[in-house]
Amino acid sequence: MLKRVDVVVVGAGFAGMYLLYRLRQLGMKAEVLEMGDNVGGTWYWNRYPGARCDAESLAYSFSFSPELEQSWQWSERYAKQPEILSYAEHVADRFDLKKDIRFGQKVSSAVYDQGNNEWLVLTEQGHEVRGRFCIMATGCLSVPQLPAIDGLSAFEGPIYQASLWPHEGVDFTGKSVGVIGTGSSAIQAIPVIAQQAQRLQVFQRTPNYSVPAENAPLDAAWLAQFKMHYREHRRFHKQGLSSGFGDLEIAPVERVPVAETAEGMSPQEVAAVLEPYWQRGGAFFLSAFADALINPASNHQIAEFVRNKIRSIVQDADTAELLCPKNFPIGSKRICVDTGYYETFNRKNVQLVDVAKDPIKRVTANGLQTDAGSFDFDILVLATGFDAMTGALLNMDIRGKEGMTLAQAWQAGPRSYLGLGVHGFPNFFTVTGPGSPSVLSNMLVSIEQHVDWMAGCLQHMLGSGFRRIEADRVAQQQWTQHVNEVANATLFPQGGSWYLGANVAGKPRVFMPYAAGVGPYREICEDVAKDNYRGFAFT
Ligand code: NAP
Repeated sequence: MLKRVDVVVVGAGFAGMYLLYRLRQLGMKAEVLEMGDNVGGTWYWNRYPGARCDAESLAYSFSFSPELEQSWQWSERYAKQPEILSYAEHVADRFDLKKDIRFGQKVSSAVYDQGNNEWLVLTEQGHEVRGRFCIMATGCLSVPQLPAIDGLSAFEGPIYQASLWPHEGVDFTGKSVGVIGTGSSAIQAIPVIAQQAQRLQVFQRTPNYSVPAENAPLDAAWLAQFKMHYREHRRFHKQGLSSGFGDLEIAPVERVPVAETAEGMSPQEVAAVLEPYWQRGGAFFLSAFADALINPASNHQIAEFVRNKIRSIVQDADTAELLCPKNFPIGSKRICVDTGYYETFNRKNVQLVDVAKDPIKRVTANGLQTDAGSFDFDILVLATGFDAMTGALLNMDIRGKEGMTLAQAWQAGPRSYLGLGVHGFPNFFTVTGPGSPSVLSNMLVSIEQHVDWMAGCLQHMLGSGFRRIEADRVAQQQWTQHVNEVANATLFPQGGSWYLGANVAGKPRVFMPYAAGVGPYREICEDVAKDNYRGFAFT
């Protein structure tokens, strides 16, 4: 039966949940369509062993409700996946969100009906819903990427993909396990699997830089004091050039780099700056030097500090050298945050296999084969990443004006105005879409900022009697160019990472997130809104 609402929202992760909450406040009727059978998005799917957030729990949480932030108790500096999922469920229950979410609905198409100025959204399960607006809250890392390796179906044992992990968990006891991939997911999973499995072989094509998490339980007395300053912390997360990550100080302090540059410093001087950051743990490590992500010479010094750490942790010199990233600037790919990753390679049951020098040729019935040899294992774990940022959007048949598909509009890479709207697709928004800080930031900070902006925009439309909004073509062109220029002034494009689409064959190489920081981006969005939504056309 066809249903009609004001807004159709796709996805019930943190973005879709907060959107629903805000739309209700505006008095708008919304329906959220969610593929999974519960809320939580990425935290619903990514249940691999060791999965936890790499942003501090106290910052990686909603700020919109002071009562919520005061009542919820995070147990650790970096929460585990089950705890984050419980938090999502708690939020859904507390704000009674589930009654407007339809679970188990995978959206197949969203088509703009120009005559009626509304969107018709269909799911693979046969549900149809019409809405004046369609908002994609589909997440940036929600489409798993299978490796392009022959013979995956030939493997006779179980294959588990990190981002589609079985809900009942996997018992590795007494098993020989192969892991393909050494990105953030694998770096979290490997130390945990190694403790359980009889034998673990890690197939590494590109080593990554990882810093210790220094994760720890949060002390109740400390937490109580921190919470007295929660509002100030939230203001800090939203402003400035930072990416909206958290702080361990009880009262927030202005985060300024210790030094402008590492260029020209001796290794001892660099170590004197970086050692406290390493000891303190977390991705904040990269903010010690102001020019870390723009000056290759400075970046090289920071990278060398990390390589020396790896050499000092890993006992076998050849393994240590293999684990040292050498071909891309530190931070140009998302830096990993680990608990005991490098130490894991000192275990007798763990072997690192270099599949850059000797690539995987095919998966076989019992393991895999390279040019030089074969490797047997009982269980294969794939931690091979995602078709990031555009994957979920382009997997749906999204059609705007004149039947133009989003795939056609984005043939040469994603183009959007502010990462919020796309020319040719009226009444259509993307939460943390390409062209916004999104994956370079604390996602919760960016989700709230986008949803608040959209709510303000919808309120403006309701108040002014506008029924249609569309990103202007020229504004979109200028913004896309600006996003590129900002990226090109940094070392990010040199990472060859999923930020650029480089991990997916045939995907256009476009640096997708906006790299100027959450503070400047927020100011631009607020300025656009104040200026009558400059760059958007209303009807
Ligand atoms: P990823 O960083 O893209 O890593 C994928 C890994 O698979 C890479 O090591 C890649 O090697 C390897 N790979 C892919 N195809 C291969 C092949 N055919 N042969 C050998 N190796 C292959 O994916 P991810 O680890 O899932 O992380 C993605 C993002 O998710 C992260 O950057 C982060 O933003 C997010 N994440 C966050 C957390 C957290 O909050 N703690 C945890 C997990 C993930 P190459 O590099 O050589 O391609």
